[in-house]
Amino acid sequence: MSNVDAEEIQKFEKLASRWWDPHGEFKPLHDINPLRLGYIDERAPLAGKRVLDVGCGGGLLTEAMAALGARVTGIDKGDAPLAVARLHLKESGREVEYQTASAEEWAEVHDGEYDVVTCLELLEHVPDPASTVAACSRLAAPGGAVFFSTINRNPKAWLFAVVGAEYLLNLLPRGTHDYARLIKPSELDAWCRHAGLQIRDMTGMHYSPLTREYRLAPGLDVNYIAYARSVHS
Ligand code: SAH
Repeated sequence: MSNVDAEEIQKFEKLASRWWDPHGEFKPLHDINPLRLGYIDERAPLAGKRVLDVGCGGGLLTEAMAALGARVTGIDKGDAPLAVARLHLKESGREVEYQTASAEEWAEVHDGEYDVVTCLELLEHVPDPASTVAACSRLAAPGGAVFFSTINRNPKAWLFAVVGAEYLLNLLPRGTHDYARLIKPSELDAWCRHAGLQIRDMTGMHYSPLTREYRLAPGLDVNYIAYARSVHS
């Protein structure tokens, strides 16, 4: 089973050329990038670490982690986002290894190789997110850090992350997020525990339409990021 939804991949293929435009369709990813980078680096200092970025897209977080001195590999199932990511390295002069693979495929050959695994804004786009979580766990070394971010599933998340972001504020293209695929923190926690990952923290990523800025804060009702440690040996 491939655990890849071709329609989801297509959404990102179509927009790939816009990936590095800070005012384009991926603006929200640009806006949250410093926040999530800081969150990760505080909990798992990145300099010198072996890092895997799962579902890396055009490489926003991937390159930012490399800039902090991590040895980063980025994997994605979209060819166009990866082509953009590779092209951007020529501009930035940074070093990242980019490969076409899903988490499950990569785990078959890179079991336990990474100090840090990041899987941000991906789980809500795959058919079987529990399988992706399990693969991320396998990819982490014993005691390694694994980070996920996604969107909660409840009426407020529907209003803010789907209706608000896609229809009222035009922050994201319409159809980016399918409500049924959004993920409750309790579900993510259960998948993690089942996969040998212990959640250490979950923090909300809040968007204020007034200031047009994101900030990290305790409430998990809409966007959130989770930090886990591998407890397998
Ligand atoms: N993680 C990046 C990009 C998020 S967009 C960031 O937060 O900046 C989601 C990405 O996941 C897209 O690039 C899409 O091509 C990729 N994707 C979707 N399904 C996938 C799968 N099953 N395996 C790997 N990548 C996938």
